[in-house]
Amino acid sequence: MARARERLIVVSNRLPFVFRRGARGEWEVEPGTGGLVTALLPVLRHRGGTWIGWPGLAEVSRELAAKLEAVGEGSGYRLRGVQLTAEEVRDFYEGFSNQIIWPLFHDLTSLCNFDPPYWRIYCAVNRKFAKVVREASEAGDFIWVHDYHLMNVAADLRTLGSKARTGFFLHIPFPPIDIFLKLPWRLELLEALLQFDLIGLQTPRDRRNFVQCARALVKDFEVEGRGQVVVARAGSRKLRIGSVPISIDYNAFMRQASTAEVAGKCEELHALLPKRKLILGLDRLDYTKGIPQRLKAFHSLFARYPDMRERVSLIQVVVPSREDIAEYRGLKLEIEQLAGKINGSFVRPGGWVPVWYVYRSLTRTELLSYYRAADIALITPLKDGMNLVAKEYCACNIEEEGVLILSSFAGAAAELGRDALLVNPYDIEGVADAVRRAFRMEKAERQARMRRMRRHIREYDVFWWVDAFLRAAITKDLSAFPQPEDRALEKGTGELVSL
Ligand code: UDP
Repeated sequence: MARARERLIVVSNRLPFVFRRGARGEWEVEPGTGGLVTALLPVLRHRGGTWIGWPGLAEVSRELAAKLEAVGEGSGYRLRGVQLTAEEVRDFYEGFSNQIIWPLFHDLTSLCNFDPPYWRIYCAVNRKFAKVVREASEAGDFIWVHDYHLMNVAADLRTLGSKARTGFFLHIPFPPIDIFLKLPWRLELLEALLQFDLIGLQTPRDRRNFVQCARALVKDFEVEGRGQVVVARAGSRKLRIGSVPISIDYNAFMRQASTAEVAGKCEELHALLPKRKLILGLDRLDYTKGIPQRLKAFHSLFARYPDMRERVSLIQVVVPSREDIAEYRGLKLEIEQLAGKINGSFVRPGGWVPVWYVYRSLTRTELLSYYRAADIALITPLKDGMNLVAKEYCACNIEEEGVLILSSFAGAAAELGRDALLVNPYDIEGVADAVRRAFRMEKAERQARMRRMRRHIREYDVFWWVDAFLRAAITKDLSAFPQPEDRALEKGTGELVSL
């Protein structure tokens, strides 16, 4: 753990708890799941501090505020809710965050809805967050802001007179300059981001994109040095910009995947789908995940290689998400049609079904069983900040015989690209060929690749990530930032090689 006296103030769009009304109208509180919460809560308990965020409900009543207070007290740190109106949720969260920044930063410009009021409400909501942070913090605290919903917070804090040090971590990719330039508020946003003292990005590529945009757009922006962390000057300010890849609680996944309950479920799954290799696709419903392209690749696999029929099945799990946005509803229909088309073309009645489609959230045991049972994971996002599913799959691959097929546009490819089979998700036949290659890969090669990936993920887990970020932020010790493998296209071959 980074040793320092500062209290930690974590700021994220959502609080790490889910609040909902029970059957009798009383508040029910469930702790959030996910790597970020798992990694940050022990640090908060240890240092003391506060987590600030929106509780996920349009209005925060006095009763809910009291509930937040009580939950925080029991946990050893404070929780502070930021109250948002229904209009703010619509324009700040669903609008600017999810209809502008999300598609733009994932290179999907044509899906952006650059509605001007979205920006105004985004600025107003960021100021609202900053006010709550200002009230809850002191000069000696360290304020760690998370993700694309809150990029103006450091600038707003300075306007409010805060002297506390600030850090920002972007969980999604940072786009290349030609894409970023499409944003009507590009300069305002960059200048606001440069008010943080430390900016963390997922990969070296994201860091290079960010630095290139700042160099091109911001007056007096200069960078000193090279490497994973660069020191930059923006006018009279000095800040650090680095790449530090987020990860998972490796040991927890490995331990939970090793239980008898999970082993039993795996056996059930293999008995249900016998004499074939199981290929797993597991994604939130999102157009960045490349699910239709993946299903087309599967169609191509069976159409071009009839010998692959009846020897593999795809289990495609889609976790419901953002269904109130029209694009997501359309995507769901497209996925269902494509899965239906493959099954309609290749199914053997009474026997083999090529695609098992699951549309719901999984229980923890189901998730671990799918991971452990899958012979091949097919993870092909069009663009992804990191993709934790790729790392979770490896952690749960206890037998170390699985193959990871991974999009080279996932952040995880910067670390795992040497041992995963990297694919271009837009290359339908290329992905189909990678599945065939994974299917035919000798056991010794599969084991060697999987062992190396698991070793890397175990070493650079989510606790390492928190520690590396806080060290860089608080003690300015940058040595913890790793030198992950970054991959670039080798000219003339079309192959991806290490930089
Ligand atoms: N996950 C989940 N519920 C499920 C299935 C998966 O919460 O039913 C989790 C999964 O374990 C992983 C996360 O959702 O931690 C997905 O993270 P990832 O980085 O792959 O993609 P994101 O959805 O954040 O874009």
